[in-house]
Amino acid sequence: MICDIKSLSADALQYQFRDWNQPAYRAAQVLEWLYVHRVSSWDAMTNLPKAVRELLRANYSLQTLELVRKQGARDTTQKFLWRLSDHALIESVLIPANPALYGEASDRHTLCVSTQVGCAYGCKFCASGLEGWKRNLRADEIVEQVLAVERWHAAEEAKVSKAQPAPSNKLPESSNRLVNNIVIMGMGEPLANYDNLMQALRILNAPWGGGIGARKITISTSGLVPQIRKLADDPLQFRLAISLHGATDETRNKIMPVNRKYPLAELTAACEYYQKRKERMITLEYILIAGVNDAIEETKPLAKLAQLLHAKVNLIPYNRVEDLDWERPTEAVQEAFLEALEKQNVTATLRREKGHDIDAACGQLRLKTERELAAK
Ligand code: SAH
Ligand code: SF4
Repeated sequence: MICDIKSLSADALQYQFRDWNQPAYRAAQVLEWLYVHRVSSWDAMTNLPKAVRELLRANYSLQTLELVRKQGARDTTQKFLWRLSDHALIESVLIPANPALYGEASDRHTLCVSTQVGCAYGCKFCASGLEGWKRNLRADEIVEQVLAVERWHAAEEAKVSKAQPAPSNKLPESSNRLVNNIVIMGMGEPLANYDNLMQALRILNAPWGGGIGARKITISTSGLVPQIRKLADDPLQFRLAISLHGATDETRNKIMPVNRKYPLAELTAACEYYQKRKERMITLEYILIAGVNDAIEETKPLAKLAQLLHAKVNLIPYNRVEDLDWERPTEAVQEAFLEALEKQNVTATLRREKGHDIDAACGQLRLKTERELAAK
């Protein structure tokens, strides 16, 4: 199978042009077409000689994501369902800036990115795992989610500015990024697709690629211990979020099968190692599910763990998934849980979900669409 051009590092591309006896600046030209202008065809790379375009076409693919469905209005959380070249479906979610969430304040957007088609980890509450794991995404398919959303946005902006001419001093859209925060919290377990994920993140982080700061990229994992340790040893300073959802083995075992493989003691040790190596604050994600993990006594082990890891806790009210019986607790219960944590000197936030009404939790739009397609 030929490799996609957006899986390549700048070094690899430079090496390729050298090998073809082409001048070194060709690599820079291609990178600019891909990551600044976000073109989706070789023929759009108009400053490359035709022969070079043919060489590229013969040796690399240049795949883009096909938009199947989009939910959500402008300036709110918007969800994109994409079709891959093998017709598999994945999701990305665009969330308007919310400074209280992951990391620094932002005046732009966060994109929630998928890393696999489906998920093998089968957490009991999650739509992504319901129909199992199909395959890993390639690095270019991860990178392309950012580019495809920005391409879509630029086209929307162009429609608006056609109606009302833009002021003449406005920079061209291609020179600035719509997405300046990335959370790897879409479909799939990112650390189970470690190499492709890291290649994609290096491309999205590189100045010649996405130019998105490593500190603006958060990787969320259900708790794959060996990969957390490996990530701790990687020189790039990505942020880490742990999908904890229970602070005892008893609670975690009930909802997350991964905890049987990597119980809390091992996960905690890996997080301590990460924290020491990186000197970065870890986020503990905690979905509040009615009657499962929302009792006030659950805040005690949670607070202890957060203190040990110098971590902050992000409480997320559960989003209903069709076919599953789980429910989110009442707002009063959510607030009481938050207050109990704060009383124990834990830094915690309660997410007032922006995308609740559009099935914002990962995997839900895909599941719905696949079922509708199957029923046809
Ligand atoms: N596999 C990784 C990343 C993808 S899931 C992980 O588990 O961390 C991203 C986040 O969405 C996780 O914290 C996950 O637990 C949460 N999530 C899954 N289903 C949800 C739902 N129905 N409501 C709220 N959060 C959900
Ligand atoms: Fe997979 Fe994460 Fe969903 Fe668990 S929560 S099934 S690890 S995507």
